[in-house]
Amino acid sequence: MKKVLMIGTGGTIASEMTPDGLAPGLSPERLLQFVPAISALCEVDCISVFSEDSTNITPAHWTRIAQTIRDHYERYDGFVISHGTDTMAYTAAALSYLIQHSRKPIVLTGAQKPIYFDSTDSKTNLTDAFVCACSEKAAGVAIVFNGRVILGTRARKTCSKSFAAFSSINYPDLATLQDHRLLCYIPGERSGEPCFFDRLSTDVSLVKLVPGMDPALLRFALEHKSALIVECFGVGGLPSYGDNAFFDLVSDYTARGRFVVMTTQVQNEGSDLSVYSVGHRLKENRRVLEAYDMTTEAAYTKMMWILGQTRVPEAVHSLFYTPVAHDILHPDP
Ligand code: ASP
Repeated sequence: MKKVLMIGTGGTIASEMTPDGLAPGLSPERLLQFVPAISALCEVDCISVFSEDSTNITPAHWTRIAQTIRDHYERYDGFVISHGTDTMAYTAAALSYLIQHSRKPIVLTGAQKPIYFDSTDSKTNLTDAFVCACSEKAAGVAIVFNGRVILGTRARKTCSKSFAAFSSINYPDLATLQDHRLLCYIPGERSGEPCFFDRLSTDVSLVKLVPGMDPALLRFALEHKSALIVECFGVGGLPSYGDNAFFDLVSDYTARGRFVVMTTQVQNEGSDLSVYSVGHRLKENRRVLEAYDMTTEAAYTKMMWILGQTRVPEAVHSLFYTPVAHDILHPDP
């Protein structure tokens, strides 16, 4: 029988009603009591690394989860992480950089409704996550939710309330689950050795452009962080109003060692800075990177992973455009 480690981190799935609303309180052992069928699938050990609404999760939590998997990696065939849905896509992306080439499945799941509610997605999602964690066809980091298996670098929460909470962005689903049976379209890569990392830089942030935005906000962000993800409009660019203040800020701060990653706030199809003059002129700046079809979650956590290792511009450039877990399909020419 396969052995799976269940790692509890909190979230709605483990939440109980309190006078202030839902808050996580159930241990992973308690969650499993609601789904006895899982004990027929595999042997499970449980560990609770923290119990948080995922709104409270920080990069330090991501490195703790990764370290827990590293410490137990050889003893288990797969891992299930129960997690809040709100920041699950960020955790999935971060884990995809912290644990690369895993031949074992590392499956995140959670729910929109707590496990003890009459109408809940918790039991289905948890069972499906274990099915995936036991599968010979699965490998690496993925989110299992509402019958879909989504690559960790491609997930995004796209519905705040309904059970179909997650989408795979610019990439197909890896598999679906019907009646707890896995139909695998893209099998995981099971060759190679896992590579663990333990450092993420928190010197990265993100700004989202809005029409008429004051360039002083961009200055503030560039002043405070070494790398900034800029969520632009459409295929990408910076406003040129105000005497090109946005472009001048990017030139000034990149000349002082900052990195800027241009991405789009449009969910599907990614950026292409070369199309419009508002984007094209940034292409010559080697410290301005382009996210292309990456998710914002992946671009943000990838820069944290990269700056945890190096600040040498050529190395940052090359690491950013080197695909990790299929996070980017259009690397820089
Ligand atoms: N606020 C919850 C969380 O992210 C939402 C959920 O789990 O569905 O922890």
